[in-house]
Amino acid sequence: MKTPHTLTQPVATLTGVGAQTVNRLHKLGIRLIQDLIFHLPLRYEDRTRVHPIGSLTAGMTVMICGKVDFIDVLNKGRKSLICRISDGTGFLSLKFFHFSADQHNTMKAGTWLSCFAEVRHGYAGLEMVHPEYRVLANRESYIPENHLTPVYPLTEGLSQLTLRKAVKQALNEVELLEDWIPAELLQRYQYPSLLEAIHTLHAPDESVSMVALQNGSLPALKRLAFEELLSHYLSLKKSKVSAKVWQAPSFFSPALENSKAHFLRSLPFALTGAQQRVIAEIEADCVSSHPMMRLVQGDVGSGKTVVAAYAALLALTAGYQVAVMAPTELLAEQHYRNFSAWFASFQTQVVYLTGQLKGKPRAATLQALADGSAGLIVGTHALFQDSVQFHKLGLIIIDEQHRFGVHQRMALRDKGQQAGLRPHQLVMTATPIPRTLAMLQYSDLDISIIDALPPNRTPVVTSVIPAERRDSVIDRINHWVDKKRQGYWVCTLIEESEVLQCEAAEKTAELLMQALPAVRIALIHGRMKSAEKDAIMQAFKNHELDLLVATTVIEVGVDVPNAGLMIIENPERLGLSQLHQLRGRVGRGADDSYCLLMYQSPLSDTARQRLGILRDSNDGFVIAEKDLQLRGPGDVMGTRQTGQIHFKVADLARDADLLDIIQQIGEQFFIDTPHAVQPLCDRWLGVSTNYAEV
Ligand code: ADP
Ligand code: MG
Repeated sequence: MKTPHTLTQPVATLTGVGAQTVNRLHKLGIRLIQDLIFHLPLRYEDRTRVHPIGSLTAGMTVMICGKVDFIDVLNKGRKSLICRISDGTGFLSLKFFHFSADQHNTMKAGTWLSCFAEVRHGYAGLEMVHPEYRVLANRESYIPENHLTPVYPLTEGLSQLTLRKAVKQALNEVELLEDWIPAELLQRYQYPSLLEAIHTLHAPDESVSMVALQNGSLPALKRLAFEELLSHYLSLKKSKVSAKVWQAPSFFSPALENSKAHFLRSLPFALTGAQQRVIAEIEADCVSSHPMMRLVQGDVGSGKTVVAAYAALLALTAGYQVAVMAPTELLAEQHYRNFSAWFASFQTQVVYLTGQLKGKPRAATLQALADGSAGLIVGTHALFQDSVQFHKLGLIIIDEQHRFGVHQRMALRDKGQQAGLRPHQLVMTATPIPRTLAMLQYSDLDISIIDALPPNRTPVVTSVIPAERRDSVIDRINHWVDKKRQGYWVCTLIEESEVLQCEAAEKTAELLMQALPAVRIALIHGRMKSAEKDAIMQAFKNHELDLLVATTVIEVGVDVPNAGLMIIENPERLGLSQLHQLRGRVGRGADDSYCLLMYQSPLSDTARQRLGILRDSNDGFVIAEKDLQLRGPGDVMGTRQTGQIHFKVADLARDADLLDIIQQIGEQFFIDTPHAVQPLCDRWLGVSTNYAEV
């Protein structure tokens, strides 16, 4: 008897699925019978009709039927079996490089064959190479398929045939699937039912347009993409709700007022209104006994670091440890210096950990964390490693969150779990992703926005200039340095390998040193030793260097207010948000500052428009929204985002309209349909990626 339980049986229970196939299916993320149902075809082949040979052109992939005119083995060049067939409208050659004597015998003259393959140009007219073929009793005995043939994504060793057979069996159980989308919603958006959508996609009949299947406009596809995106949203939402059930250390302490006053007095500036508001939101979270899960969004230069330091202050004053994680060593080092200075008067050590730290110093750092003598640690993702144990972790701060994945964020949180208490989490990001996308990435978080820059900032003046004017740019650097100002020259190189990237940057640095003998120039890139980078950054900060030639390693966080000129080579290669981040390294003080986007001609229309957006706006959110309109969300989120979610059906570039719908109905769905949340997450996120599990 079938029960809904059948759907959650492992694939091994299907006939024809042995241990090896099970392993291969696992590689595709397919474990349960239900997973096979949601493993949708990549594309389709049309065996629903027979094409007259006379109507074929090269490039078509079609079914034909024809009678063998002759068959021959060619020994010239590579040995091959050639078989010519015709159907009264034309003729075509079949070509086999691997063949058996048996094959030779069955295809003798006069035999009818059906053949399916791509048609190509051959020596003697059109041909098919290694077609899939069948011997027919006669012309009439071919029975066309009644639907398009699905072609599924595969993995090594798994054949299309095996997968098709397995999916077919799984589809026998399909009516057990619960349709969690209420009829009212289906009607509103004119989506088909779940069953109809599944059948349409695995076995589309003639009425289904191949074009709509391919461009994703088919309602069946939209419906499933919608359900998938909704499931991701619900999963984060669920995580947010269940996190509130956990207990967290309260940072309330009698010493707090004193500690706060002292900290604020020690700052060289007054906090902006926006900073104060966000700080109050953080403090309210941290003195409650449930874990804070808060995202602070603020444009580059809005002053997120000091907000994070304030949160750290709350934890330290209450006697809890703080972990600060940054995406690059450069940024981690800078934070380490800042936090060390801010908390120098505290009775605790501030320590630093990256993958580079080895041997005794590493052991000492780990020991200080484990025994609690270190209250604050700054590091890169090395903080995730198993060897890192905390004594009493109370707060996790993650800077530039967009560089980490959701999963990494969850992993660090789990690490800090102690005696039933969960640490508070503060996540900071400058990449202003549009609201609709934020909803998919950050629905598990409360959001605070620092929506104003510190006062007395002169906006960066951006210009777009062709690389042919390089000489005048070099002149400009001379004048700039005469004025005792500093600058960056950023090499954006597309080289796949980091080694090549750094070599190219070295070359640029050499050329600039020759062209600018009076300017103190240094190179900084990702492959340099940590100590070396540190020394250069320190020298730059101390104004012992005038120009820093850098790869995009300086994209995040680096803060040297006197550096007010940035030249970005080949900006057309980068995403707008990344360019905005880079540009955020300048304009960090009251003095004027400039960003020169030096492109390689010729520039495409879109590229010109995109750089124009950057020239005309200094507002990260405006830039992200415009970029979204121009390029679609897939590109805005970018492949650099290691935490990018992988979708089975949905495609953010194609399905941007669905994000709007989910924003409209998601919250209500969560409230009205609580019983659907877990099943939908299981269905679409699977067990392994269900990061909402708590
Ligand atoms: P981001 O938000 O990009 O991380 P930072 O925290 O690095 O920005 O701050 C940028 C610069 O602004 C730093 O030099 C910092 O000291 C300074 N800053 C932060 N808050 C204020 C403020 N309220 N007034 C003046 N300068 C500030
Ligand atoms: Mg920052």
